[in-house]
Amino acid sequence: MEIVKSKERLLLSLEKLKKFQSKTAFVPTMGNLHDGHIKLIETSKRLAEHTVCSIFVNKKQFGASEDFESYPRTEEADIERLEKAGCSLLYLPRTEADVFGSAGQFQLKLDVPSLTNSLCGLSRPDFFGGVLAVVLKLFLQIKPDFAVFGKKDYQQFLVVSALAKALDIGIEVVGIDIVREASGLALSSRNNYFTGQDRAKASFIYQELSSFKQRTGLTLEQNLAISKQNLINEGIEKIDYLEIRSGRDLTLLSELTPDKKPILFFAGFFRGVRLIDNIEL
Ligand code: AMP
Repeated sequence: MEIVKSKERLLLSLEKLKKFQSKTAFVPTMGNLHDGHIKLIETSKRLAEHTVCSIFVNKKQFGASEDFESYPRTEEADIERLEKAGCSLLYLPRTEADVFGSAGQFQLKLDVPSLTNSLCGLSRPDFFGGVLAVVLKLFLQIKPDFAVFGKKDYQQFLVVSALAKALDIGIEVVGIDIVREASGLALSSRNNYFTGQDRAKASFIYQELSSFKQRTGLTLEQNLAISKQNLINEGIEKIDYLEIRSGRDLTLLSELTPDKKPILFFAGFFRGVRLIDNIEL
């Protein structure tokens, strides 16, 4: 695996990789890699001859009171994991300027309002602008044939897919299913903020989403109210949202119409850590 740390070196290496018309797939990450990220790399390897991964903790997508400073950074272990997984090229930009140019150069405000006016777009108002900025910059710098995203961040997957379609940039955005611990907890770099005991406890979130799916004889409203109460009883300090929306366009659903691909979306705080999860209904 080749490792490049500047845009100039990235472009040179990509030129070599893309010789002979070979295809590339791109996996953007913020590092602290876990099996969910590795699943993205494996998918990418099935899609294309070369896998390009980036690790960049993107300040633009963090709110002022969020965890940019403390976000787990584990570069050496990440490199080892990527090497083992068969990644071809790792881009490790050292500075904001590598990705966004000199200070003040990137002034664009990007949005897909119909997809960002709900869920995490409401509870994290800076998030999608920051995600779209970094994804667009990296897409245009790397120009892959495919980009692979996780459906744990389902809204992000839809927003990025919409960006790629709207701009005709010729990148196919591919989504992969959520990778979970044996307990059901969705893998996340933020799980590393927990003690072992709390991490085990946090699996009640997925268990509750699964119970929602299993309960019968209730209206959706009644079922949602039960789940909210259960989540709070189990230790969720604040529910940002627990809503059923269409997996196609995120419209709020009041019935489970299969055509609309209903998904139950959750975000909330457990032991001060914001966790998200979702389940197809
Ligand atoms: P992050 O490093 O958290 O920004 O995530 C990088 C990519 O990995 C995103 O496309 C995420 O959706 C994806 N990802 C993170 N956790 C998981 C998971 N548990 N299962 C599947 N994909 C994931």
